[in-house]
Amino acid sequence: MTDTGLKEIILTGIDASPGICIGKAYIVDIEGVDVVKKYFISEEDEEKEIKRFKSAVKKARDQLRAIINNAPEELRDHAYILETHKVLLKDKMLYGKTIEIIKNEKINAEWALKKVVSEVKSMFKKMSDSYLKERATDITYASDRIMRNLVGAETEKIADIDKRVILVANDLSPAEASQIHLERIKGFVTNRGGKTSHTSIIARTLEIPAVMGLGNATHSIKNDDLIIVDGTAGIVIIHPTEETLLEYGDRSVKYEERKADITRDSHLKAETADGFQLKVMGNIELPEEVVSVIDYGGDGIGLYRTEFQYLSSSSLPNEDELFDKYKDVVEVIAPKPVTIRTLDINGDKAFSNNSDYVEVNPALGLRAIRYCLKNPDVFRTQLRAILRAAAFGNVRILIPMISGYGEVLETKKILNEAADSLEKEGALFNRDVEFGIMIEVPSAVVIADILAGEVDFFSLGTNDLIQYSLAIDRGNRHVAHLYHALHPAIIRMIKNVADVAKDKGIKVFMCGEMAADPINMPILLGLGIDELSMNPQSIPAVKGMIRALKVKDARVFMKDVFKKKTASEVEELIKETFGSILSEKMYA
Ligand code: PEP
Ligand code: MG
Repeated sequence: MTDTGLKEIILTGIDASPGICIGKAYIVDIEGVDVVKKYFISEEDEEKEIKRFKSAVKKARDQLRAIINNAPEELRDHAYILETHKVLLKDKMLYGKTIEIIKNEKINAEWALKKVVSEVKSMFKKMSDSYLKERATDITYASDRIMRNLVGAETEKIADIDKRVILVANDLSPAEASQIHLERIKGFVTNRGGKTSHTSIIARTLEIPAVMGLGNATHSIKNDDLIIVDGTAGIVIIHPTEETLLEYGDRSVKYEERKADITRDSHLKAETADGFQLKVMGNIELPEEVVSVIDYGGDGIGLYRTEFQYLSSSSLPNEDELFDKYKDVVEVIAPKPVTIRTLDINGDKAFSNNSDYVEVNPALGLRAIRYCLKNPDVFRTQLRAILRAAAFGNVRILIPMISGYGEVLETKKILNEAADSLEKEGALFNRDVEFGIMIEVPSAVVIADILAGEVDFFSLGTNDLIQYSLAIDRGNRHVAHLYHALHPAIIRMIKNVADVAKDKGIKVFMCGEMAADPINMPILLGLGIDELSMNPQSIPAVKGMIRALKVKDARVFMKDVFKKKTASEVEELIKETFGSILSEKMYA
């Protein structure tokens, strides 16, 4: 019990942005418009209704423009997200379809919009990829804004908040998050959202703690409640006791000290105490994130996820549009490498307006390279853009979801055709790029020896490798407790891939989340991974851990690891053996 007699409550959500803050809650009352009336309109009112809809869209565009112009300096780089929402306002699926329904069904604009949005949402909901699912929220944000204008509801007032508070909201759109002024907002918590949402990217850019996906935060927390947000652990504590407050006050100071410490050293090499050098790179989804990779001391881009560009407009991006983005990234980070991963999209549902096309098991469906080989024109366009960008720096090509030898050969054939066509046209390009494949499907692990002869490098995608090997949907919270990177099966698979790579003389990288946790470093060093890539914020801690270890010790340690039978036994062993380093660095 606290002094006020209130019971301390702990809520658990998603660790969207690390750090700790303590303060008063401020409930942001921005809800979508839930109750929408339906009424029919007469033939002669049809034009008037369409005009009303169009002016709500125009107003939404003006509002977004104003938010972009008034965004704090540090968020300017993220204004493109709002630009995307501006584009979505006029998206065929949303804008064209709503007008069509007003005309065809003679119903009011609100109802027509609601109908269109629920169709689009159900189409996106069926996708298994969390990244694509998050993009569906962009459509929601854009349509909510139009709806609020149609019904005359209030718009957000975050920019007007004038006290130091922690925001508590059902959801925060990137537009709302863009109004956050650091001197006033300490952190935020939301009922909805996840790690790959743009709002969480904004929180990480601002370096303010955030916990998302809490489900019921706006019900459990009242205005002015004292709360603690632990964005590192993904928890929120309501009415903390005196003892908890002291503990978290202390943790917060230690966290800031540690952050300052590791960030200060982030530009040092990732070299073990016995002189073995490793490259530590950054993963990006958006070109603008390159800046964080450089700031956090990344040695290059180990994974550039290219899906976003395909989802931010209703039509497929053309070669020049792709090229422009890739070239920007490549030039900014040159001469350091950029590993561009080809489209990892979950079947053609993402582009299709046809919501009848539904895969029962999308994670096992027409995803990634399977989609690209089925749609060689789309693939060729992307490959040509990559090869052209390669003339401006150091580019590697990475192919996702390879499950068999034939896919590699087919991919290389299309890549060669793309290069030949550019040569014929006399275009500026570079065909001499390193070619690698993601190892994220168990069959690829088993035939790594067969695949190795065709590629320059392997990149272990542990996010999917764990999902497919342990049969655990990576987005399903009911089985999340079974999702363990240190499962003996996963460690054995990584060993197999690393041994094959060494034997065949190719490099082996890791770009899944497993690479981002310092506790895994003794194992990754012991198995001989050549390069790691991760979310940029994790780079300093991983580099710090590597510098504290010796490869010699890690190799010996692996003998004991292989005697362990479960993930928890492995974790315990790491803590027993390297506990002093981990606790000195406060990584465990
Ligand atoms: C992975 O699967 O580990 C990976 C890095 O790719 P993604 O998370 O984009 O599927
Ligand atoms: Mg993957």
